[in-house]
Amino acid sequence: SHPVVAIVGRPNVGKSTLFNRLIQRRLAIEEPTAGVTRDRIYGRADWTGHEFWLIDTGGLTFEEDKISREIHRQVKLAMEEANVIIFVVDVRSGPVTLDYEVAAMLRKTTKPVILAANKAESPNFDMSEFYALGLGEPTLTSGAHGLGTGDLLDEVAKHL
Ligand code: GDP
Ligand code: MG
Repeated sequence: SHPVVAIVGRPNVGKSTLFNRLIQRRLAIEEPTAGVTRDRIYGRADWTGHEFWLIDTGGLTFEEDKISREIHRQVKLAMEEANVIIFVVDVRSGPVTLDYEVAAMLRKTTKPVILAANKAESPNFDMSEFYALGLGEPTLTSGAHGLGTGDLLDEVAKHL
């Protein structure tokens, strides 16, 4: 069966928009309100001959309510299935506390993690802070504008 790539991150960084861009369909719900994707959503993608399953997940918050815990459980399941994980952050906000919490979780996995610095369609941002997440060099993307997705998929394909 095909390899699996999971998209994870806190709410509202553009995971679902990126997912839809990468599978070139509108399966996931893109929402200005946080926490809309609770389940794992699967889509088929391919890149230069590599076919894979892409999973969109809900936004991690590490809160204690029922929905947050269910999202966390679904993200864990997606990470277990995944061969490669895409960790999405927002270049406009810079790394926030929740990003550091997600990063700490991701640094515990032995699986390859690709850091996608998303919403990067305008050039007014400081990338230097993202290195503090300890997950290597960010790949600049804009899911909404379809920028950098080739570079992102090149990074993913190195591990497929
Ligand atoms: P998710 O919660 O991480 O799945 O994020 P969504 O894909 O639902 O997007 C959250 C919000 O960010 C929506 O208002 C989107 O329109 C917006 N958004 C998503 N991708 C981009 C992007 O590449 N650039 C900008 N500027 N906004 C984006
Ligand atoms: Mg979403």
